[in-house]
Amino acid sequence: MLRFWPIPVFADNYVWVLEREGSRRVVVVDPGDAAPVLAAVERRKLEIATVLVTHHHHDHTGGLGEVVRRFAPPVYGPAREAIAGVDRPVADGDRVELDELEIALDVAEVPGHTLGHVAYLAPAFALVGDTLFAGGCGRVFEGSFEQMHASLQRLADQPPATEIYCAHEYTVANLRFAATVEPGNRALGQRLAAAEAARATGQATVPSHLADELATNPFLRCAVPAVVAAAEAHAGRSLDPGAEVFGVVRRWKDGFAA
Ligand SMILES: [Zn+2]
Repeated sequence: MLRFWPIPVFADNYVWVLEREGSRRVVVVDPGDAAPVLAAVERRKLEIATVLVTHHHHDHTGGLGEVVRRFAPPVYGPAREAIAGVDRPVADGDRVELDELEIALDVAEVPGHTLGHVAYLAPAFALVGDTLFAGGCGRVFEGSFEQMHASLQRLADQPPATEIYCAHEYTVANLRFAATVEPGNRALGQRLAAAEAARATGQATVPSHLADELATNPFLRCAVPAVVAAAEAHAGRSLDPGAEVFGVVRRWKDGFAA
């Protein structure tokens, strides 16, 4: 039985811990800050057996030095990015064997937020870093809108029951923007209300299910007529469904105050 739990770090990051029942050897994803991660792990008398890194941003890698000094785990990370502390560079199609969890993960390169960003995929879950968020997606800092759209489509092609583990608690702001794009989407309205209720009591809104993202996340719905129409109205011109709509909606979100 696998268990996932988040360690909140900084204002809104989650460092995910993957644990197999009965084992003290855990996997940690994107340790941006060492102190809260080491404190949480040591409080439970666990040992960090492996670290997975999705991309080079400091809020995902800042704790690597201290984590490596304490536990000396292998650190997997994107081959296309230079990250101090990563000693197992991975590229698209690679497989990461996690003996401590008795599972293997497939590496998918998902460029856009950064150029080398990778996701780690299993049949039932996906560790997606800052690519796909609950109700939204990462900003396109290094890649093109076309690249980011293709990366999100690749994640969207996973089985609908896939649990999406992202690295930030952005859900309410994302869904408020989504409801501006698609005010007539009832599933979206219900999801926003549920997320607001969860946050009001301090609960995490992640992970999410891919099926809910497909039904409510505008960045996975760039070929849906309502989203295309909203993007066209926002841009004041006609747009091709897909990457062009994605670019308009992404820029729209960049300037949106929730
Ligand atoms: Zn990032």
